[in-house]
Amino acid sequence: MPQKQRDRKSRTVPSPESGEQAMIEGILEGSPDAVGVAVIRLDCGCRKMAAVDVSGDPASKIIMYRDNAQSICDQCKDDHGDFRRVVKQFISWKKPEPDQATMAMITAKVLGSE
Ligand SMILES: [Zn+2]
Repeated sequence: MPQKQRDRKSRTVPSPESGEQAMIEGILEGSPDAVGVAVIRLDCGCRKMAAVDVSGDPASKIIMYRDNAQSICDQCKDDHGDFRRVVKQFISWKKPEPDQATMAMITAKVLGSE
């Protein structure tokens, strides 16, 4: 009997970015003054996020989260996401985006110059 080909359900693997995007939108919704959300990805898979306003000041508290997990990992609980473990950081801008100069100013202020 020929083996039935295994149903290859198109597994919709939730990409890390989709959870991240949902978080970003949630933060923007809760922060009316925000022009964007600073996203800091850590090497352990946890993320740190905070809304920023047009002056580059925090517009929300810093939120740490981990995809598909109840809480952040033990290491983050320990070091609160030490900057040495940052693998990527960027700002996700709210539409419409601020002008280039404003974005550059905010980026420098929030993420620092590397
Ligand atoms: Zn972590």
